[in-house]
Amino acid sequence: MDTPYRTLSAFYKDKFGKRVYKLPIDGGFSCPNRNKNDGIRGCIFCNEQGSGEHTNKGDIINQVKLGINFAVLSNKGELFIAYFQNFTNTFAPVDVLKEKYYSAFIDDRIVGISIATRPDCINEDVCKLLKEISKTHYVTVELGLQTASDLTANAINRGYKSQIYLDAVKMLKSFDIDFVCHLIVGLPNETISDIAKTVDFINILPPNGVKIHSLYVLKDTPLGEMYLNNKYTPITREYYLEAVSYILTHIPKDVVVHRLTGDGEKDKILAPNWTKEKKKNLNAIFNYMTKNNLQQGCFYKNNSIRTP
Ligand code: SF4
Repeated sequence: MDTPYRTLSAFYKDKFGKRVYKLPIDGGFSCPNRNKNDGIRGCIFCNEQGSGEHTNKGDIINQVKLGINFAVLSNKGELFIAYFQNFTNTFAPVDVLKEKYYSAFIDDRIVGISIATRPDCINEDVCKLLKEISKTHYVTVELGLQTASDLTANAINRGYKSQIYLDAVKMLKSFDIDFVCHLIVGLPNETISDIAKTVDFINILPPNGVKIHSLYVLKDTPLGEMYLNNKYTPITREYYLEAVSYILTHIPKDVVVHRLTGDGEKDKILAPNWTKEKKKNLNAIFNYMTKNNLQQGCFYKNNSIRTP
């Protein structure tokens, strides 16, 4: 039976004709949201690894080589996207960005680059560099929105207003650079109604891709402290299924679904335990959608696109 949403693997296969694997890379960047001298530790769910749990460290060329060796040995792909994952990968002068990004292109098997960053770290100089790279490699920017609610954004210490996301998206679109929107289900005090508002918000300027995951509580984070002090209750798998299905059915059907589960290091997750069962969660989403006869985009209305 067909997957009821547009998978990343199928998109890559269509685009490149071969199986493509994303190589997670730690580019050695930091994050403006963690660099403040006010004692605030960035987004409440972020730990010392800056949302990049599966990367190696050190020299980028070496990381790419190690990643390829691993991917080839475990038969994960034939072509590769260099995925700058940890922290904010546009948070440096452009000449530094340029050197780091290009150093990942060690041979012709690296067909693209994916750059995780914050909307408030997108500017014209960054876009010009990415545009230049896009002449030879497929470029994707991944923006951590998580929610459209400025109230929740404040509660999780995201550090920018949602309008900044739209400004960044407009700029990326003006340079014709693909972007992926990161969303989190289970943020403190959010309900399906907040999720619906976030979906309406991203549909103003629909992304090329989405990454969705349930909020999991990591050790040594402000969220971890909230959880241990009974100030945050993790969501259930049932709620997650409902929320993910809502998102998928209300976004355009051509949006590529990059991820539907969190991928935290199991021994660092305090709760909820069900988030550690990646395969089971993916199967549950598949079963929930097929049982309810749901498909990506089935409730998406073109006329919901508004001009910001
Ligand atoms: S923007 Fe990313 S790296 Fe920075 S604090 Fe938030 S989650 Fe962590």
